[in-house]
Amino acid sequence: MANEIRNAVIIGSGPAGLTAALYLSRANLAPLLFAGSKWGGQLMLTTDVENYPGFPKGILGPDLMKLFREQAERFGTEIVNSDVTSVGFGGRPFKITANNQIYQAKSVIIANGAETRWLGFANEQKLIGRGVSSCAPCDAFFFKDKKVIVVGGGDSAMEEALTLTKFATSVAIVHRREEFRASKIMVDRASVNKKISFILNSEVVDVLGKDRVEGVKIKNIKDNSQKEMPLDGIFVAIGHIPVTDIYRGEVELDDKGYVRRKAQIYVGETDAPGNYKMMTSVKGVFVAGDVHDHHYRQAITAAGYGCMAALEVEKWLEQ
Ligand code: NAP
Repeated sequence: MANEIRNAVIIGSGPAGLTAALYLSRANLAPLLFAGSKWGGQLMLTTDVENYPGFPKGILGPDLMKLFREQAERFGTEIVNSDVTSVGFGGRPFKITANNQIYQAKSVIIANGAETRWLGFANEQKLIGRGVSSCAPCDAFFFKDKKVIVVGGGDSAMEEALTLTKFATSVAIVHRREEFRASKIMVDRASVNKKISFILNSEVVDVLGKDRVEGVKIKNIKDNSQKEMPLDGIFVAIGHIPVTDIYRGEVELDDKGYVRRKAQIYVGETDAPGNYKMMTSVKGVFVAGDVHDHHYRQAITAAGYGCMAALEVEKWLEQ
């Protein structure tokens, strides 16, 4: 067990975690941040980020995260590139296990985000990396002159499809409804791209292929008809699920598995001590970013939540 009791441990290294780290290190609280074996969060899997303020020409997701990290480290954040394997929030100091070592902390910020939601077929899981992907910026290159589909109707699906058109010969977006969840600007961009087509009111019901993807089975949900579609790749972009297994039984989660904020029980009439909006069901354990937010899910809102959680940790430690 590490003998030192840290002021604050941050779990997660996306915009929420690294923003919290920036604020806490500038407050001289020397935070320890567990970045995970794959650091940087979902922005590491994107290409151009056009809606993060301050970058009028856009910036690549991984480049933006490198800047976040550099800025947090500049003020003394200590970063460990390991996954947290368990937490103990039942007593104080809180306990955080990583690399088979137990770390102790007076406060914790949970900020380890969300991960890909898969369709859930056995063959989909088997063929990940062999035609099944959830990351066009990472894998589009392998689909040069190939035929692919993207599943989903949100901004991610549009973005994945647009990225894929740089390599693939054709990209069909398969969506289960007629209306899109994606923003109009993204749907418009996809609609005018000659390589992109839409297969609406349809669900992928199986992934075909033995050693690599050879096609998919698609069902039209209006007339229940099914057809097989030969293709080389399937990109799944149907949203994300919060990474909260290690918190089960330690903090309250909602029915979708997101960490629940219990702010309401502390909210006073003023911003006086006790008004902790980012606190979880455990006093001293705070949350920020996509691990609790299934509504906004933007890099900028995650960063904002990280800032709020850090300011509250500062106030909590003072008390
Ligand atoms: P999302 O907005 O939740 O969209 C998920 C899509 O997948 C929905 O269209 C949903 O269909 C569909 N879906 C969910 N489960 C499905 C299933 N089992 N089978 C088939 N389809 C399924 O997720 P997202 O696109 O990943 O976006 C997440 C957040 O990031 C959003 O706030 C988005 O604005 C943001 N984002 C922004 C940008 C950008 O601005 N450039 C890029 C990417 C993401 P229904 O519509 O029928 O529910």
